Amino acid sequence: MTDDKRTTDFERRWNQRQVDAGVLEGEVLAELVRLGTRQIQEEAELKVDGLAGPATRAEIEDRLGLNQRGSKPPRKSRRRPPPDLVPIPTRRNIEAVYGSFGYAEDPKRPGAVILDKKWVRENIVKCHFGPNNTQYTWCHRLVAEEFPRLLKKASELSGYYPKKVWSWVPRYQRWDPSRGRLSDHSWGIAFDLDPHLNKAGLTGGTPLHSAEGELFVSVFMDAGWDCGINWKSYPDPMHFSRVRG
Ligand SMILES: [Zn+2]
Repeated sequence: MTDDKRTTDFERRWNQRQVDAGVLEGEVLAELVRLGTRQIQEEAELKVDGLAGPATRAEIEDRLGLNQRGSKPPRKSRRRPPPDLVPIPTRRNIEAVYGSFGYAEDPKRPGAVILDKKWVRENIVKCHFGPNNTQYTWCHRLVAEEFPRLLKKASELSGYYPKKVWSWVPRYQRWDPSRGRLSDHSWGIAFDLDPHLNKAGLTGGTPLHSAEGELFVSVFMDAGWDCGINWKSYPDPMHFSRVRG
């Protein structure tokens, strides 16, 4: 396989993930399709109109090797994609990236929910972090590598090493069923850092509001994460979530 072919496969998978996550949608997606279509039509010396009709589709299928009768389909890699290929969704598209599950309200714990066991088994994993990896929390498998990496980077840069880190808790937003929406924590993609210090509702005076805290937060912001310290209506300094803010 040539380098070119590998690059194309990589690009195709990467773009497909953007579509699956709803990051690429609507007019933006349509414009990309139109531009790509013109390019393919030019190269194949078809009529260049940007409309992906039957002749253009046949050309694309040829390129993908879909029309070669009797030949084997392209071998798929069994390896999981590296984590930096996982798109960061908006909250609206959270399920497209991290999955969806059935759930019921927990009769013993107001505001909490109980998730479908199969989804939990397949997605929630133990994640080690902290100096010498001696601490751990349960979180979504798609953030289990990225979170400790960012935490390490943020701590080394700022000198702030959170002592308590909580992630996966299936529950409604703010433990309030009347909100009707589940918290990011239900998917295990949000992390509360030192909740006893970085209390929800505070707009100053927490470790994260200091100059060091600003450096710490910037590492997660630069990686595309949403940080509750920036929320206008109800700041939640402890909250770091792998969704687009
Ligand atoms: Zn939180």
